[in-house]
Amino acid sequence: MKTMPFQIIRNDITKMKVDAIVNAACPTLLGGGGVDGAIHQAAGPELLAECRTLHGCQTGEAKITKGYLLPCKWVIHTVEPVWHGGSHGERELLASCYRKSLALAVEYRLESIAFPLISSGAYGYPKEEALEMAVDTIRAFLKDHNLDVYLVIFQKSDYQLSKGLVEDISAFLKEAWKGKGDPHAREEEHLDSVAGELESLYIEDPYLADSIPPYPYEESRHLKKPGIQGRIKRVEWQIKQLYHSRDPFTNFCVDSKREEQFFSELEESFSHMVLRKIDEKGMTDPECYKKANLDRKPFSKIRSHEDYQPSRATALALGIALELPLSELQELLGKAGDTLSHARKGDLIVEYFVKKGIYDIYQINQVLFDFEEPLI
Ligand code: ADP
Repeated sequence: MKTMPFQIIRNDITKMKVDAIVNAACPTLLGGGGVDGAIHQAAGPELLAECRTLHGCQTGEAKITKGYLLPCKWVIHTVEPVWHGGSHGERELLASCYRKSLALAVEYRLESIAFPLISSGAYGYPKEEALEMAVDTIRAFLKDHNLDVYLVIFQKSDYQLSKGLVEDISAFLKEAWKGKGDPHAREEEHLDSVAGELESLYIEDPYLADSIPPYPYEESRHLKKPGIQGRIKRVEWQIKQLYHSRDPFTNFCVDSKREEQFFSELEESFSHMVLRKIDEKGMTDPECYKKANLDRKPFSKIRSHEDYQPSRATALALGIALELPLSELQELLGKAGDTLSHARKGDLIVEYFVKKGIYDIYQINQVLFDFEEPLI
């Protein structure tokens, strides 16, 4: 299920099944190269015929036509600025391309729209700035509108983040993985460490093992996961049971902090923790789900179902929106039956931002996309 109002994806925009795609057009609206050419080619000659009736369009403005042979219903044509060094109103004009296109989507009551990275091709706009402008303008719009917005990246080379940021994150990943081999080896290592913990608990109190019930597969899809991820989950679940069923008179010796964490995880559900944090931060529900880049629908499940089990991405997004420190983010994820792991590049990228106190989903997702990791 799609739950994120804003998504960056890799695709050819002419293949997008959305209400409208946006064309980065030239002032005549009579077709050109790049994305404009691709859209006209896929839509067929009737699109050009309708464009002729529009008598052109000014830079920074937008006009709408039907989609003809395209899988989308509408095409919004916006005329992008040519870069003349930045002092000729280019930034305002580019922002206006996004705003006017989005305004047309609202006027036509559309539910989804896909943009190419306007101006990042032949017109010479600096690529890093073109991306920043796209994300900032869309983000500002989504604050007060409900619409699914896709930013469609065709060529990865047009997608450019700040070099300094990418280098800083690469260095952070390198440091975290220093001497730790490939990701699979790191997951094996994690499994070894939890399996070792389980074994030591059995050694301390062998009778406890008898009290562990069978895995409640039907309640937790995480326990059913195949491969190493599932094995880790099952061992972690057993450890949880051991802590839960321990006999206080045997003076079963456990790390008290870890024990506390397990008990608090058992006591408070995911939904409860999210709602408690929203109250503590003095946020409203819409403030929280907008900041998390979440649709209202999955969020309303948190309000209505005490035992709601979110996806990993939803749990992470809410943790970021609530500006949780790393330990609490880990706790929240634990309640979703998951964990932040140094074996995953995406998790480390999230950790990088949390450690820096940058709780900006849009920025985090821009980086996750760049590193080819799933968005949150
Ligand atoms: P400009 O906007 O500078 O005139 P282009 O039209 O060539 O240049 O490209 C604008 C952006 O659209 C670029 O990032 C380019 O990679 C992208 N693009 C080109 N073809 C497609 C396509 N079929 N789908 C999505 N994006 C495309």
